[in-house]
Amino acid sequence: MTGAKNNILEAVGGTPIVKLQKLARHVAADIYVKCEYLNPGGSMKDRVAGNIVADAERRGLLGPGGTIVEATSGNTGMGLALVAALRGYSCVFVMPDKMSPEKVAGLRAFGARVVICPTAVEPEDPRSYYQTAKRIVAETPGAYYANQYHNPANPEAHYTSTAPEIWAQTAGEVDVFVAGMGTGGTISGCGRFFKEKKPGFRLVGVDPIGSLYYEYVKTGRMTRPFAYYVEGIGEDFLPSTMNLKIVDEIVRVDDKECFLMTRELVRQEGLFVGGSSGAAVAGAIKYAEASKRKENILVLLPDGAQKYLSKIFDDKWMRENGFLDEVDPLGTVAELLSRKKQRPLVTAKKGESVRDVIATMRDTSVSQMPVLDGEGGRLCGIVAEVDLLDFLVKGEAGLDSPIDLLVESDYAMVTPATRVHLLRNIFSDAQIVVVETGDAIVGVITKIDLIEFLAERKT
Ligand code: PMP
Repeated sequence: MTGAKNNILEAVGGTPIVKLQKLARHVAADIYVKCEYLNPGGSMKDRVAGNIVADAERRGLLGPGGTIVEATSGNTGMGLALVAALRGYSCVFVMPDKMSPEKVAGLRAFGARVVICPTAVEPEDPRSYYQTAKRIVAETPGAYYANQYHNPANPEAHYTSTAPEIWAQTAGEVDVFVAGMGTGGTISGCGRFFKEKKPGFRLVGVDPIGSLYYEYVKTGRMTRPFAYYVEGIGEDFLPSTMNLKIVDEIVRVDDKECFLMTRELVRQEGLFVGGSSGAAVAGAIKYAEASKRKENILVLLPDGAQKYLSKIFDDKWMRENGFLDEVDPLGTVAELLSRKKQRPLVTAKKGESVRDVIATMRDTSVSQMPVLDGEGGRLCGIVAEVDLLDFLVKGEAGLDSPIDLLVESDYAMVTPATRVHLLRNIFSDAQIVVVETGDAIVGVITKIDLIEFLAERKT
């Protein structure tokens, strides 16, 4: 019939771009959003799924009777399930246990098998969702592992579909592209296209506090990731689909600001979106507040609100997790730092001798300290008493050796606005917490600092 698509896959893409009306009035830039949540499978991953399957078929890796296996936070699974339904494949999806029940139910609605794995294990752990997916592929005849974290067809989908569509819709008038970063497919694929088209184009990645991207870009170190609630963005390893080199700026956001912004996007702008959309818009607004430039910023909204009704849009869940409290009983890291005995921050410098660092530790009674590089005083890691001890016991090098070899990454980064409530979880993974604003270190917090702060409040 005239006007009809042949099948629902032909309806992927062609999503609208809309100007924010209320939430970004205070910034000089105009902020626009690309409504990828309006795709048939509910997210921008429909484009990725289509490209991954087409690529696998072309290369003879997936054929009739085949099974698509994927480790997914939900949306890639949904896209793949949609393609599989039309092309007659079976699907097995492996998901981390923090994902919303609506996502699991959605995948099961397509007849897919869903396997849930613990979130709180290392990516190399056989129970992790990445490793479980690999095992299922090995055990299933005719299985194809979509592997969105390492499949070039993922960023390619954004390079050949999302970005050219944005370019055509806006006649190239976009100056800045903002996206949350999970596999990195969106930012790397779109980013490559935009940068080829327009010199000076800026790419801004948004990273949740707890993920390791931000620190990795700033210091080249893999810090201790820790758990956070926003779904679909941030990683605890580096996927090969992520090209961090083309990202000009990374903005950090915490769960609370992501979720409150998500609720405002629905209530004030009528954009029925999920948590990573709130994260991306919160990040874009922070970027625009800092840059103060009059320019066109385009933010990609990955998925819709439906899947998060039992979380972000449920007041009970929000309150239980401390995201709705106007007054947080434990306060923020800024308060903890100001209550901490007013000792100046003690740091070491890259290149400093082990002897000098030991002397500083003795004179100031600290057991761990941040190490800054020479130029600019940027953080490059921490040095801890226990590492100095190991070094001296092994006796392989002398006291005049530089401490550089002992600098390690067993720390987590937070900002002064991070809630103290979150530090408990962070300390189960990291030895020390470094507090940073912009590029400056404003303090360090150890377990004993937290204990003292909490004990003082009780007295
Ligand atoms: N938001 C949501 C809800 C997602 O599912 C994903 C994919 N993990 C992203 C954002 C991030 O997109 P990408 O993987 O392309 O970096």
